[in-house]
Amino acid sequence: MGDVAVVGAGVIGLTCALRLAEAGRRVRVLADRRPSETVSAVAGGLWFPYRAAPADLVLRWGRVSLSRFRSLASTSGTGVYWREGIVLHRSADPDLSWTAAVPGHRPARAAELPGGAVSGVVCSLPVVDMAVYLAWLAESCARLGVEFRHGTVERLDAVAQRTVVVAAGLRSGELTGDTTLEPVRGQVVRLANPGLTRWVVDDDNPAGMAYAIPRGEDVVCGGTADEGARDLAPDPEVERGVLARVGDLVPALRDARVLSRAVGLRPARRSVRLDRVALDGRVVISCYGHGGAGVTLSWGCASDVVGLAA
Ligand SMILES: Cc1cc2nc3c(=O)[nH]c(=O)nc-3n(C[C@H](O)[C@H](O)[C@H](O)COP(=O)(O)OP(=O)(O)OC[C@H]3O[C@@H](n4cnc5c(N)ncnc54)[C@H](O)[C@@H]3O)c2cc1C
Repeated sequence: MGDVAVVGAGVIGLTCALRLAEAGRRVRVLADRRPSETVSAVAGGLWFPYRAAPADLVLRWGRVSLSRFRSLASTSGTGVYWREGIVLHRSADPDLSWTAAVPGHRPARAAELPGGAVSGVVCSLPVVDMAVYLAWLAESCARLGVEFRHGTVERLDAVAQRTVVVAAGLRSGELTGDTTLEPVRGQVVRLANPGLTRWVVDDDNPAGMAYAIPRGEDVVCGGTADEGARDLAPDPEVERGVLARVGDLVPALRDARVLSRAVGLRPARRSVRLDRVALDGRVVISCYGHGGAGVTLSWGCASDVVGLAA
């Protein structure tokens, strides 16, 4: 089996590189943004299939990730936690398809619902502290001999390896000729964690989507989902709205100190692209378009990439 190049050092590229290395391949990661500078570093880090398709594969990939995150949650230094929380619903017929992948979920009790929520699902899911986790992924890769090269890949035929995994997030299409990727802008504010462990997701909040995800030292609060927007500067007005919504949901966060703020562009596509084609004299395996669920789908997709690279 020959060497493999992986373009991208976000959660998808690093997980693919690690799985390939675990499978015995010699891997080189090529990326022009370090893990801490990627969209992946902005993610809230909750396992949840948000804005990703197709539904059947999303469930299959998500299940594989759940299983791997479960074991990572009991390994120190990974940044992965396994925590109970609640997904709130404000309509009578919410999409519950994701619960098929989640053992042990239950309907929320009335006392657990804030005003305006008509129902909810309580369950335990992986929560990933992305700064710690991306560093852990990179170190795990390096321990298995994965090489890292910093720089932009302009064309696939400039890559030395005959097999190339394109895991370049929103910019993947520049390499594969795919014009169907679109950004979905998300803004978050990270608050000092006053000791919370329980997460809450309130995507249908009429004032705008809202979530609070306690990780280690911080609680990631969001959010927004602006299709087509590319502005990377945090908007103070948007942040005020996020803080107001989150403060209503979790009063303990009302006085929490702001640690940092960030914007990321989710790599959205009508469906995740995961396939193998011959292109520019290379075997090209595409793995991109994970929308708002790159962390959620990472291990499942990486597992398929290993199969396609065999
Ligand atoms: C606000 C927000 C909250 C989110 N919350 C969650 C969540 O809770 N759970 C979840 O599962 N998902 C979440 N997501 C979605 C998740 O962040 C993305 O799906 C995921 O980060 C995509 O990862 P990626 O590795 O494909 O891309 P990226 O993280 O963007 O990484 C792309 C990599 O490719 C490299 N690259 C690109 N083009 C080239 C090139 N030509 N040459 C060299 N290198 C190149 C870049 O340098 C970078 O290293 C969230 C996203 C946002 C914005």
